[in-house]
Amino acid sequence: MIAVVNVTKSYRGKNGPIAALDGANFRVRVGDFIIILGRSGTGKSTLLGIMGGLLRPSSGEVFLDGKSIWTLDERTRARLRAEKHGFVFQNASVIPSLTVLENVLLPQAFLPRAHAANLSRAKSLVEQIGLGERLHAYPDQLSGGEKRRVAIASSLMNDPPFLLADEPTGDLDRETESEIMNLFLSLWRNGKTIVMVTHSHQLASDANRVFKMNDGRILELPGQNGTHKHIDCELDSPGEAPINVREVPRP
Ligand code: ADP
Ligand code: MG
Repeated sequence: MIAVVNVTKSYRGKNGPIAALDGANFRVRVGDFIIILGRSGTGKSTLLGIMGGLLRPSSGEVFLDGKSIWTLDERTRARLRAEKHGFVFQNASVIPSLTVLENVLLPQAFLPRAHAANLSRAKSLVEQIGLGERLHAYPDQLSGGEKRRVAIASSLMNDPPFLLADEPTGDLDRETESEIMNLFLSLWRNGKTIVMVTHSHQLASDANRVFKMNDGRILELPGQNGTHKHIDCELDSPGEAPINVREVPRP
């Protein structure tokens, strides 16, 4: 599980500090499919970066399976990140000078050699996303939806338990959006824990928990189908607190 505890983040702006996160408390349970909604500029990407170990918070803590990740040294944190998190970044998710196969293989470069997965895993991931015939194509030969699928396959390379996706369908048409969403739903059904930032209220109906960000704070929204319910986001001793892994209703 991931627990974000009293996290603040301020950036240096031209006219003084910009408070991007203002005491965010948030917990991800194993088996969740969480959707985070919120207007642009409310701190969604900042939160995802901090919980994924990419961006250092100004204060507060992030626990990953009980370990406080921002007190670890950079090397250990990088290793943990490579093993535990698959990232699907906003827009620029694939590297244009690498082929489909090379893009998918890339994350294993961040693992020690003994743990590195092999070429056949990358190939089978490319097949799973339906691009088996396009292994050696370059991103500029692919459609927007195909590129996004490559980015998702790449995030799966190290078989991480958590997928963190930042507006993965933001720039896609409706039809492609639902195709990408179906891919995430099938990954969820197959055991991935997913945190997705999106503007789409439509997509939120597929998640088991929905949160909304407002001015650097995050709140859980009550569930429509009883699939997710309002909880108090205040946490006392979240690092060590026992987590009940509940039965997650799957679509
Ligand atoms: P969202 O993803 O919800 O659009 P962000 O987390 O990207 O929000 O940004 C939150 C706030 O922090 C915004 O006001 C944004 O302008 C500001 N911000 C984000 N990144 C930086 C940065 N590197 N330097 C300065 N300000 C930033
Ligand atoms: Mg953003």
